[in-house]
Amino acid sequence: MYDVAIVGAGPAGAMLARLLSGRCRVLLLHRQRKKCCGGILAPESQKMLAKFDLALPREVLVDPQPFAVAVWDLQSQLVRHYARQYVNIDRNIFDHWLVSLIPSDVDVRMGAVYRRSQYSDKNCFEISFTEKEEIRSAQARFLVGADGSFSTVRREFFADHLSPKRYIALQEWFELQTVLPENFTQTGIDFRNDYVGIFDSEITDFYAWMIPKNEQIILGGAIPSGKKTRETFEQLKTKLRKIGFCFDFSVHREAGSLFRPLNPCSVCLGSDRVFLIGEAAGLISPSSAEGISSALTSAYCLAQTFGSQGFNLSAYRKNLRLLRWQLLLKMLKIPVMFHPLLRKQIMLSGLTALDRPL
Ligand SMILES: Cc1cc2nc3c(=O)[nH]c(=O)nc-3n(C[C@H](O)[C@H](O)[C@H](O)COP(=O)(O)OP(=O)(O)OC[C@H]3O[C@@H](n4cnc5c(N)ncnc54)[C@H](O)[C@@H]3O)c2cc1C
Repeated sequence: MYDVAIVGAGPAGAMLARLLSGRCRVLLLHRQRKKCCGGILAPESQKMLAKFDLALPREVLVDPQPFAVAVWDLQSQLVRHYARQYVNIDRNIFDHWLVSLIPSDVDVRMGAVYRRSQYSDKNCFEISFTEKEEIRSAQARFLVGADGSFSTVRREFFADHLSPKRYIALQEWFELQTVLPENFTQTGIDFRNDYVGIFDSEITDFYAWMIPKNEQIILGGAIPSGKKTRETFEQLKTKLRKIGFCFDFSVHREAGSLFRPLNPCSVCLGSDRVFLIGEAAGLISPSSAEGISSALTSAYCLAQTFGSQGFNLSAYRKNLRLLRWQLLLKMLKIPVMFHPLLRKQIMLSGLTALDRPL
């Protein structure tokens, strides 16, 4: 019998397993799948890694390291740069590195996919999962869903809870030298070095992005689920082609689901025996989709509550107070940031921007 079964070994699950190691018997179900992600470590994520006394190994890093985000409003053609110290990473290698830090007393089941569980009369969960094409089972006192935005655990136990707005994120990778228009500097953006946030309300009520990664560049966008995703993404490419971009030489395409909590009630931390951390809980920035910091923070806050009685929901909620306030503030900023006219006024004012006002 395990004390804790964790579903998912993204940043949230891998970090929780590491923090619980040596304190209880942990089972970690790790469905290995490459994450569709921009691979940008925001200052908040860097702070969490510092808190765990972790330094990034060189192989996690990719070039360049942007110190500014270029905000590009496609409809008004306005561009502004804002200072932000990001670290540009290879997300796949980052995830592998986090898993490699889990001590050996944690039972990590590589390739295991959680199916469902039942609370039995033995006061524990009977957990069913698929491993090496066989259905297996295990018993655990507590269950933690760290299984991201399409969380099976959340859908199984908290289906009645308000869900964050769902987006489908598409990313396409290109060779940098084949993509850029000859006169790209006229846009005011250095696409070889800037992390670019692209805003266009015809495409999405969230945003799209371009991120250079070594000799390649990602074009990505978060499109509300229900809207024709592929067609909308192509529409974005058509708009960029008109400016001179060439998207004929695609290297790789990927897609993933993304949560956007626009209402504080859509954050769900769990119940007495089932807990949610990371994006499964709805802990992700509704303004930028940065979620790695919240994944690490929630793992830390839940691990802190573990004692002889197991986890404690009210202590977990209390530990997360600061993060929840920060998310709430971001939610409140959304109507301004994402309103085309208001955003235009803010960009024209040059408020907090590095560029000089017009
Ligand atoms: C396109 C895109 C770009 C993004 N860019 C950034 C960025 O640049 N910076 C940033 O900070 N955040 C970014 N995010 C958000 C960030 O990726 C997530 O918020 C973060 O990964 C959440 O971590 P997590 O551990 O909660 O979930 P995840 O990283 O999603 O990990 C969940 C894990 O659970 C596993 N899993 C799922 N179901 C099962 C199951 N049934 N059984 C076993 N395992 C299962 C998955 O395979 C995965 O390994 C981006 C998201 C998207 C979609």
